[in-house]
Amino acid sequence: MTPEPQQPSPMSPSFQHLMPVTERPAQVFVRGQGAWLWDAAGTRYLDWLQGWAVNALGHCPPEVAQALQTQAGLLLTPSPAVHNLPSLQLAEKLCALSGMDQVFFGSTGAEANEGAIKLARKWGRLHRGGAHEIITFDNAFHGRNLATMAASGKAGWDALFPPNMPGFVKALWNDIDSVKALLNDKTAAIMLEPVQGEAGVRPATQAFLQALRQLCDAQGVLLIFDEVQTGCGRLGALFAAQHFGVQPDIMTLGKGLGGGVPISAVLARSHACVFAHGDQGGTYAGNPLMCAVSLAVMDTLSQPAFLAHVRTMGALLRQGLQSLSQRWGLGEVRGVGLLLALELGSDRAAEVVQACRERGFLVNAARAHCLRMMPRLNSTEAEILEGLAVLDASLAQVLAPAMQNA
Ligand code: PMP
Repeated sequence: MTPEPQQPSPMSPSFQHLMPVTERPAQVFVRGQGAWLWDAAGTRYLDWLQGWAVNALGHCPPEVAQALQTQAGLLLTPSPAVHNLPSLQLAEKLCALSGMDQVFFGSTGAEANEGAIKLARKWGRLHRGGAHEIITFDNAFHGRNLATMAASGKAGWDALFPPNMPGFVKALWNDIDSVKALLNDKTAAIMLEPVQGEAGVRPATQAFLQALRQLCDAQGVLLIFDEVQTGCGRLGALFAAQHFGVQPDIMTLGKGLGGGVPISAVLARSHACVFAHGDQGGTYAGNPLMCAVSLAVMDTLSQPAFLAHVRTMGALLRQGLQSLSQRWGLGEVRGVGLLLALELGSDRAAEVVQACRERGFLVNAARAHCLRMMPRLNSTEAEILEGLAVLDASLAQVLAPAMQNA
């Protein structure tokens, strides 16, 4: 007899039918509002994961809910083979805000980065004698499709799904000589995250980015910024390029661009806009539902007063993390704006994350030895102080016994 299909219940769901691609806590989350998430048991959490730096305005912000509702009653997906108004408006807005000239829309960061890689390869074929190699960096993270995995520099990834896509060579972070050593006639582009997020929040130095720009200009290769994590206000400037004062030839956006809905973008300056008909596409590319949401989100994120608020909250959080570091004898505080990491000095980040969760606070261990903070960009002072207080208590729980025994 065939058993009755099990009905999942929010209180006792079955986890068996999801492929176990990552370790997840047992809670099932059912509702989010602003800085807060609720699980099925009704427990409330202060959320500094925010969908992995996606919910720039927090959970279910009114801008997003309103734009979704309005656009859902107008037009969802007409097909990427015809124009729609929100995609035209968003492309125009993003170009005006970023100083780039044209846009291709996708749904995920990986898709945007793969689009950037294709653009660079085509540009190399047309303008640099068939050059196709892209210099990327150790510990970089550019996504999980096969091209962006090959572009990434995450330890162990090269062994996961061989054969790996060729055409990527890895330089050392913030080391211009290591880039120069790899650059040759085959090089089409240099691609990097202005702040390496998944690597544990490791900012490029401004001098390094300036040197890369000069090198690219002198050698005639493209500079690509993956701003999937650092763009859209996260650093307290609308784009990392603006924070560092270095303009790339190609820039990718994702995460915060949709404020919680899946949309990404490849932006390029006119000399790098080499796609012709048939080169690139996608069923959902530039669909009006996501573009309408992004327009509303970018309206808010691009206000100078909003970006000033991000910088103020970033400074408050940084100061608080520095005090915690001193108090508990921890390591450096790194990052820019509201993308910050606290180095613990030992591989105890998972324990701290768990202690925080038990106290109703969600935070990420970007690496075994460091915590990453990605609160909503419109965080209030009270939220920042509350997060710091819970972190303090959690550090006490994890570290104090060991300190007493020392
Ligand atoms: N690039 C960077 C810098 C990222 O941080 C991420 C996601 N963490 C990606 C690309 C991939 O984005 P997605 O998961 O939307 O494909």
